[in-house]
Amino acid sequence: MNPKYDAIIIGGGHNGLTCGAYLARAGVKTLVLERRHVVGGAAVTEEVVPGFKFSVFSYLMSLLHPRVIADLELARYGYKVLPATDMFGPLPGDDYIVFSDDVARTQRSFVRFSRKDADIYPQFDRYLMESVSIMRQLLHETPPDPSCRDWRAFRETAAFLWKYRRVGGKLFRLIDLLTMSADDYLAEWFESTHIRAVLAYYCGIGTFAGPKSPGSAYVVMHHLLGEHAGAGGWGFVQGGMGAITQAIAMSGAAHGLTVRTGAEVAAIETRDGRVSGVTLTDGSRYDADIVASNVSAKLTFLKFLERGTLPAEFVRDIETYRTFSTAFKINIACERLPQYRAFDAANCGFAYPTYTHIGPTIEYLERAYDDAKYGDMSQRPFVTPVTPSFVDSTVAPPGKHVVHLFGGHAPHTLKEGDWNSRRGELVSRVMAVMDEFAPGFSSGIIDMQVLTPPDIEAAIGSPHGHIFHGELNVDQLFWSRPAPHWADYRSPIRGLYQCGSSAHPGGGVGGVVGRNAAREILRDRRARR
Ligand SMILES: Cc1cc2nc3c(=O)[nH]c(=O)nc-3n(C[C@H](O)[C@H](O)[C@H](O)COP(=O)(O)OP(=O)(O)OC[C@H]3O[C@@H](n4cnc5c(N)ncnc54)[C@H](O)[C@@H]3O)c2cc1C
Repeated sequence: MNPKYDAIIIGGGHNGLTCGAYLARAGVKTLVLERRHVVGGAAVTEEVVPGFKFSVFSYLMSLLHPRVIADLELARYGYKVLPATDMFGPLPGDDYIVFSDDVARTQRSFVRFSRKDADIYPQFDRYLMESVSIMRQLLHETPPDPSCRDWRAFRETAAFLWKYRRVGGKLFRLIDLLTMSADDYLAEWFESTHIRAVLAYYCGIGTFAGPKSPGSAYVVMHHLLGEHAGAGGWGFVQGGMGAITQAIAMSGAAHGLTVRTGAEVAAIETRDGRVSGVTLTDGSRYDADIVASNVSAKLTFLKFLERGTLPAEFVRDIETYRTFSTAFKINIACERLPQYRAFDAANCGFAYPTYTHIGPTIEYLERAYDDAKYGDMSQRPFVTPVTPSFVDSTVAPPGKHVVHLFGGHAPHTLKEGDWNSRRGELVSRVMAVMDEFAPGFSSGIIDMQVLTPPDIEAAIGSPHGHIFHGELNVDQLFWSRPAPHWADYRSPIRGLYQCGSSAHPGGGVGGVVGRNAAREILRDRRARR
């Protein structure tokens, strides 16, 4: 007979661990059950090639919220960020563009393409950052239910509207961001395709969208929500992204959080509409009055629960929650760093570009998406090469390097063939792009790990391998994430909560979902007493 816990968390991704660590600090006896041999979910470091430590899935830190870092005292447990450089974008014809969180540096780069665009950039930056700052506040909200079906929902919606009354006319800006395509949004400001592509690039990161897809402007902003104060707002975590989740786990353990790896949940148990525990695939059972699921909404509600236990309307909303993914990742152990033809240290102002976007024009990005729209991998994928070993000597042997190539699009399900037979084709297409902009890169490869969406799905369980557990479109955000009426981290089963990226504010290594979910769990616990 397993010991009884106050709370069980299904999944030891960074949000599950964060939720668990907050609960443990509040004195709740909590157990995290993780299916893999290692905690961290999409934020792990693994030595896939001997001597080389890969951030297997997520690779750049920006979104981890300062409150989470401070509350959980992560620095005490080894969390340390090493700044990445400004984003470097090689262009055809040995040219390049630089994007930085330093407005003046970005302007100096933009002026080579358009004086008008460079001049207006500070105004655009202020305009966008006003929307970003509203969104940053919204991250911490528990989305109210605007349908106001009961007195509590009415009160919460009214309080929410009152709190945000000063948003006023900026509401229309938010509507633009949430509904417009990235290209239309940016074309209102900029004429140069290279300058528009610098920002529009973000809209395809992890989503099945191109710069001309309605709603893609929001995804650009989602990637800029981080408050990390390093160069470009992005950084590497010393020891790889797994150092974040190890630190969260240690912080939780210091307050009594128990973590079990190799523990795969098969079912969530209920009694009279209330959660009563979970059963693992090995048949063992853990009882608890509170269960919080860090795994995707689709697994939580469609796999772990009997259909009859949930309202039909809710089941349909979860079934139709879009998770189709086209993101790939290639992790490379190599002899040398990519040497970009266009890079000039003196002109760029940094020794080496550790963070690069290859996707030089709006047309390039949109054509990469067009291929995927019709079921094929992109002929010319967009690629994000990052090189943590340039700043972190702990991830590669001396003189060797780790290069992560994240990109798109590689549809989870191909129209012709499958990933077993066509994996080599993806690698060839990505290497053709890399060698075009960084000649000779592919000849220095020692070994590599190729992750297509089905590989990501098999590893961490996110349906279709979606990096955010589900698309970031307005119909799947805030009070609709993952489903209308159930965006407040609760669920139709009493005592069953959601603490993973399927819930508001969605994906990215931010810890905010876990923090918000813990707050709601504790609130209900207090109310019950
Ligand atoms: C390839 C890739 C690249 C990315 N790059 C970045 C980046 O650079 N920066 C960034 O901020 N974000 C990035 N992201 C997004 C970010 O990593 C994720 O949104 C985030 O880590 C999700 O965290 P989570 O805790 O909500 O869920 P997950 O990390 O998905 O955790 C879910 C956990 O549940 C476990 N699990 C699944 N099924 C079961 C079961 N039956 N029983 C028990 N446990 C189970 C899984 O093993 C996993 O550990 C990337 C994601 C991917 C996949």
